[in-house]
Amino acid sequence: MKCTYCDGETITKRVRKQQWLNGKLYIIENVKAEVCPECGERYYHAAVLDTIDSMIAGDHTVKEVLAVEVLTA
Ligand SMILES: [Zn+2]
Repeated sequence: MKCTYCDGETITKRVRKQQWLNGKLYIIENVKAEVCPECGERYYHAAVLDTIDSMIAGDHTVKEVLAVEVLTA
């Protein structure tokens, strides 16, 4: 597909996505996305986002737990 920001041609890649749900941050690996090689913008299909939300909400295996530093500018 064409990037909406810069008209670059996106490529299908597997990425690591951050997702907030109910005040908690999750990181999901191996998420299919269209990535613009020009500007780095990522596009996700609605079905992919729905799958992620139901994975988080349902029973899931946790691969790793990370501590996250929060800073303010
Ligand atoms: Zn772009």
